[in-house]
Amino acid sequence: MSPETALSEVLALHEEVDAWVAELVALHGPRLRCGRGCASCCQDELTVLEVEALRIRAAHAELLATAAPGPAGGCAFLDPQGGCRVYADRPYVCRTQGLPLRWLEEHEGDEWVEYRDICPLNEVGPPIEELELDACWSLGIFEPRLADLQEELQGGGEPRRVALRDLFGRRA
Ligand code: SF4
Ligand code: SF4
Repeated sequence: MSPETALSEVLALHEEVDAWVAELVALHGPRLRCGRGCASCCQDELTVLEVEALRIRAAHAELLATAAPGPAGGCAFLDPQGGCRVYADRPYVCRTQGLPLRWLEEHEGDEWVEYRDICPLNEVGPPIEELELDACWSLGIFEPRLADLQEELQGGGEPRRVALRDLFGRRA
C-alpha cells in the first residue's frame, strides 16, 4: 500500500472513530471534563504506528522541522498552555481518552473477563461497571484495523511504531 493510500485510510478510520466518540461524549455530557489545558493524560514516551504518524507528518511538516518538542515528562506535542499542537491530527489513542473504556481479557480455561476503566477526573457519575455496553468505548475494534493498515504499508512483519517525540527534527 502506498503512503498516500495509507494516509487516506487513516483519515477515514479517524473520522469513523470521531463519529462514535461524539455519540459517547453527547451521552455522558458534563461527566467528561476533558478539554484544552487538561493534559495529565498526555504522557511522554507515547508511541504510535507509523501509519498514524503519516497523518501528523503530512499536516505538520513545518512544526516538526522547526519547532522544539515540549519538555520531557509530558507529550512532546503539548504547548505551554497544555494544548495539543496537532489536535486535529492526533492519533487514535488520544481521540478516545477520557471515555469509559471496556475491554476483554482471556483467562485460564478460555474464560473471557471484561475490564473497565476511566480517567480519575471523569470518575464522578454512575459507576462505570453499571453502564450499558454501548455506553463504553470498546477497545479491540479499531486497533486491529490500524495494525492491518500498518502491515499493508510496510509489507509484512511486526507493525512498526514511532515515538511521538522522535517525529521532531529538533531536540527539546
Ligand atoms: S498528541 Fe496531543 S492529545 Fe495526544 S498525547 Fe500528545 S498532546 Fe496529548
Ligand atoms: S482523560 Fe482525564 S486528564 Fe485527559 S483530558 Fe480527559 S479529564 Fe483530562
